[in-house]
Amino acid sequence: LASRLPQVGTTIFTVMSALAQQHGAINLGQGFPDFSCDPRLIDAVDQAMRQGANQYPPMAGVPALRRAVADKIALLYGHRYDADTEITITAGATQAIFTALLAVVHPGDEVIVLTPCYDSYLPNIALCGGVARTVALTADFRPDFDAIAAAITPRTRALLINSPHNPSGTVWSEDDMRQLDALLAPTDIVLISDEVYEHMVFDGAQHQSASRFPGLAARALVVSSFGKTFHVTGWKVGSVAAPAPLTAEFRKVHQFNVFTVNTPMQHGLAAYLADPQPYLQLPAFYQAKRDRFRTGLANSRFELLPCSGSYFQCVRYNAISDLPDEAFCRWLTESVGVAAIPLSAFEPDARQRGVARFCFAKQDATLDEAITRLRSL
Ligand code: PMP
Ligand code: GLN
Repeated sequence: LASRLPQVGTTIFTVMSALAQQHGAINLGQGFPDFSCDPRLIDAVDQAMRQGANQYPPMAGVPALRRAVADKIALLYGHRYDADTEITITAGATQAIFTALLAVVHPGDEVIVLTPCYDSYLPNIALCGGVARTVALTADFRPDFDAIAAAITPRTRALLINSPHNPSGTVWSEDDMRQLDALLAPTDIVLISDEVYEHMVFDGAQHQSASRFPGLAARALVVSSFGKTFHVTGWKVGSVAAPAPLTAEFRKVHQFNVFTVNTPMQHGLAAYLADPQPYLQLPAFYQAKRDRFRTGLANSRFELLPCSGSYFQCVRYNAISDLPDEAFCRWLTESVGVAAIPLSAFEPDARQRGVARFCFAKQDATLDEAITRLRSL
């Protein structure tokens, strides 16, 4: 069989989690919390199941959850989406991004992607028959607007951005978003804005959602993930907010892709979202974990790169080893008992050398034990 994805193996997240398990290592590789979600969220799902919310929900998502998402965006970012025509509930952000690409990319269209980038983007574009035009972020992982401008051609259909950024933890500023707005204004390029870490922005900074900027909101599909926000990555529920004409195209694909997303989780999330406190407290919660992890490694031989958002901390390890990053992460897992993700997994051309990514969405005791092991190097 001729492969649709000849260059692709199993995702690095699956590979490193399996290796961590095999060696009993602390898994700071794949991004997921090792602590439970709020029991009130589980109770809300339980209640929905017992009350019979177990059949297909409406195709676009349970109305109460779509309203709750629209309310949250209005509260935080000041843009009011219509819950009926502009919000769709998805099976996590991964499906949201793939469906968005399928909805807008025709074979041969170009999609600009800023690298390093999340590992599903490039295979998704290939599966659409699109052509990925990768544009490197700067050495400190910031957008390079001149390079983005230079990559735009008459065939550019979409631009994919991600802030807070996986893997680097950089966060786009208001000025970045204004520059993006100005750059895209004379074009009809669709913006796909992956904002799954929207509630993990530190040191008092604000998340600059594309929905805050009218010129961007008018062309954007804004992607969120409840898995990240409420510590339930395995539930695979997310959302997409987009103007009605874009949403209509998105839903045409969504209905024949997953059709709908599991019903009781949607009801549970809708009830839980009525209280904004859980997501309003998230920045402080994760900032404390970032600070614990960084303080713990401050005098180690790892060089800590800046982290302004997300739940990832990147480190340079060249004072410890000159192994290539994947080999280093395997060695770290097998011999030191701490799993990490090599940065090259996010870059087809692997420009960054000697950088590994740790996930700090872990219990303090887990972080402390990992710190002890990493400081021994
Ligand atoms: N985008 C980015 C940048 C991510 O880090 C992740 C993480 N898993 C996803 C999308 C996918 O999110 P989900 O688990 O909701 O599919
Ligand atoms: N987004 C998570 C990460 O970057 C993992 C998602 C996955 O395993 N596909 O680690």
